[in-house]
Amino acid sequence: MSSRLRVGVLALQGDVREHARVLSDLGAHVSAVRRPAELAEVDGLVLPGGESSVIDKLSRSFGMQHPLRAAIADGLPVYGTCAGLILLADRITGGIVGQETFGGLDVVVARNAFGGQVESFETELDVDGFDRPVAATFIRAPFVEEVGPRARAIAALPDGRVVAVEQGALLGTAFHPEVSGETRFHERFLSHVRARA
Ligand code: GLN
Repeated sequence: MSSRLRVGVLALQGDVREHARVLSDLGAHVSAVRRPAELAEVDGLVLPGGESSVIDKLSRSFGMQHPLRAAIADGLPVYGTCAGLILLADRITGGIVGQETFGGLDVVVARNAFGGQVESFETELDVDGFDRPVAATFIRAPFVEEVGPRARAIAALPDGRVVAVEQGALLGTAFHPEVSGETRFHERFLSHVRARA
């Protein structure tokens, strides 16, 4: 039991339960993180999908923004899906007025980039490091507009738009593997956690 990885899911808003279920099915000890003291207890963190502007605001009222920025800068493994990818981006476009991010990933992420009528869709994607394609669910999703020199694109749509990136122990996907029974991104995140723990 003592060797179980301790990971958290930022539980201010969004699809916290779906991530927690995938992570505990993979054998991790999962806790909800809302306070700095809870953040200090985990060796890795998932930023769920949801509404990035709401999570941003709540993180500031819960006094979590600075501790999260510090933990990310200190090398905490983090996996962000959709809104979580937006929150992990150093720079965003299409945010609401005053919207901030935790940052860490050297990318520009375009929020609500697929907008309009085609807000949600599912597609199969090849991902660097996986031998079979991923069933990717996009829900009012962002995409990665620019990949800076420190980050690396690991998946793109057929038109070239980047939808998954990795940078050291940071992983971000514009889509939601946690809703389609896909576990390989969470396994990849847990391998970052294991490497650091
Ligand atoms: N559009 C949302 C945002 O801006 C993200 C949607 C999602 O996480 N599924 O945060």
